[in-house]
Amino acid sequence: MTIADQDKSTIAVWAGEEDPLAFGAAQVPIVQSAPFAYDDLDTWLAVALGQADGHIYSRNTNPTMAVFEEKCRALEAGENAISFASGMAAISNTLFTHLRPGDRVVSIKDSYGGTSRIFLDHLPHMGIDVDLIETNDGDAIDDAISKGCKIVYLETPTNPTLKIIDLARAIKAAKAQGAICVVDNTFATPINQNPLALGADLVVHSATKYLGGHDDAMGGVLIGKAELVQAVYEYREICGAVLSAFSAYLLLRGMKTLDLRVKKQNATAMEIARFLDKHPKVSQVFYPGLESHDKHDVAKSQMRGFGGMLSFSVDGGFEELKVFLSKLHYVHRAASLGSVNTLVGPPSVTSHVECTPEQRAALGIPETLLRYSCGVEDSGDLIEQLEIAFGAL
Ligand SMILES: *Cc1c(COP(=O)(O)O)cnc(C)c1O
Repeated sequence: MTIADQDKSTIAVWAGEEDPLAFGAAQVPIVQSAPFAYDDLDTWLAVALGQADGHIYSRNTNPTMAVFEEKCRALEAGENAISFASGMAAISNTLFTHLRPGDRVVSIKDSYGGTSRIFLDHLPHMGIDVDLIETNDGDAIDDAISKGCKIVYLETPTNPTLKIIDLARAIKAAKAQGAICVVDNTFATPINQNPLALGADLVVHSATKYLGGHDDAMGGVLIGKAELVQAVYEYREICGAVLSAFSAYLLLRGMKTLDLRVKKQNATAMEIARFLDKHPKVSQVFYPGLESHDKHDVAKSQMRGFGGMLSFSVDGGFEELKVFLSKLHYVHRAASLGSVNTLVGPPSVTSHVECTPEQRAALGIPETLLRYSCGVEDSGDLIEQLEIAFGAL
């Protein structure tokens, strides 16, 4: 039996750490060193040529980073993994490595804001054709892919309205074209969903969110087919968007409790979604775990849990939203997600602040939508706070 056969909770704790660590340390040391020194030229050469294990320079590899990468690789059951300074570094480096002028990318309208900016502002300048499809329209996604493309870039569940893409279906269409299929698995986490097991070639995560889980470190990771990851590694080692050893340590510390946190966050989000669903002052609730979600069956078939993210719209306008938010305790009013602390933010002020109300409406984002990232607090305490805030309306 190897660690790959163990439960994800065991993998999250032990992967990359099965062998004794330096100095007999019980936790991964922070190796805060840019270069690594060799007294013997033969060994140095062998390491430099990749013929022996070891590290040369932390823009290439670093022992603390390496443990983080191995843990992520094992959790997604990929062939290879590399880390980055942020989720956006992982995403941009992957796209910039694998796309050339004249190539075409198919993606969705609801991808993460930063990713959308790459699609709309940066790739077109490089002579790359980008086709962003209605996220909920599986037929249109299939059609766009069938016209031929180099990369199919997917994200599910999406931000902020928790739309679900049928991964197996889109991956099948991508394979028929020989396209590389990349999935942003940040919202789901490897605990709830494994796109590689469904046939995707590459998975990216913003480790800043659930993997780290404590809102104290930025990071990103790319996992998947060895040769595709290796090409991105070669781009990153030159372009330099590397994770720091200290951030790698913080992410590793967070990941030990990934399974515990995500399972509790799944349960809390389900409970809160049900509470909101029958609340008279809520006009809409978006959560793939609700039977009323239009893609609930797809979510059920491809996810083990529905995640800790939900969103809902409060009856009224901006004034009501202000009152409601001001009354909530035990939440940070902030833009991120996936932390042990509950985080709440309106997309009209955070991710979609640059859109006009009309543009938000076109994306199906109500003006009083609140994105709610469940922390690990007691769900009853969180619901009590929501009751108090609704009471003030
Ligand atoms: C936050 C986020 C990103 C970007 O990650 P950073 O670590 O902030 O660069 C990408 N995708 C999704 C789904 C995210 O939530």
